[in-house]
Amino acid sequence: MKFDDRIHWDRGMMLNCFYLIDGWLVDTGALPRDMGKIMRLMKEAEIDKLEGIVLTHSHPDHAANARMISATEGVRIYGHKFDFIEERHWYCVNLAEYAEFHPLENYKHVDCDYRFPILGGAKVLHVPGHTRGSIAIEFEDDGIMITGDALQVKNGRLVKPPSLLNERDDSAEKSFNRLARIIQEKGYDTVLPGHRKPVHTYELS
Ligand SMILES: [Zn+2]
Ligand SMILES: [Zn+2]
Repeated sequence: MKFDDRIHWDRGMMLNCFYLIDGWLVDTGALPRDMGKIMRLMKEAEIDKLEGIVLTHSHPDHAANARMISATEGVRIYGHKFDFIEERHWYCVNLAEYAEFHPLENYKHVDCDYRFPILGGAKVLHVPGHTRGSIAIEFEDDGIMITGDALQVKNGRLVKPPSLLNERDDSAEKSFNRLARIIQEKGYDTVLPGHRKPVHTYELS
C-alpha cells in the first residue's frame, strides 16, 4: 500500500507493519508468508534492488524474514547490538537466538545518532524498554518518525506499549515519553508505528 509518495507499507498477521522507504526496508514481517507481501511492496514501489534492511528490534513479528531477505537480496541488516548480538530474549525465538549461536553474516550495529542515507537523512534513536535494543528512526527534514514497538497508536492517541510486552517497563515508559515529546516539539507530520497503520499526526486526538 502507498501511504504517500515516499512511503510504501503493508501489514502482517499480527498487525505488524513493515515499510519500504527510498529503497530501504524497515522491519521484515512476522511469518514466511509476509515475504510475498514484501516482494509485492518492492514491485509497487518499483524497487529492483534493496539498499538495506533496518530492524527496529528483534521480536519475531518484526524480524522474521530478515535473514532470508538479506541473503537473497545481498543486503546488510542494521540493528542494535543489544537485540541482535548480546541479548537472548525470553520470547525472541527468531533472530536473537540465531544471532547468539550463528552471528548474522551481513550485519551492522547502529546506535544513537547513526545516520542512514534515507530520504533527506534518517537518524537512529536508541529507545530501550520494549526490548533493550529497540531503535526508532527520525527523519528530521521529512517530518517522519518510525517508532517500532516503542510507541503505539491506539484510538487516535500515542500510547506506551502494554507493560506485559515490555522487557523493562520503566525504561519503556521513558522511551515512549521521549518519542512522543520529539514528535510534538518538532511538529512531525507522520508517525510510522510497529503495529496497525501509519498515521498523520493531524489525525491524532
Ligand atoms: Zn515488539
Ligand atoms: Zn510488535
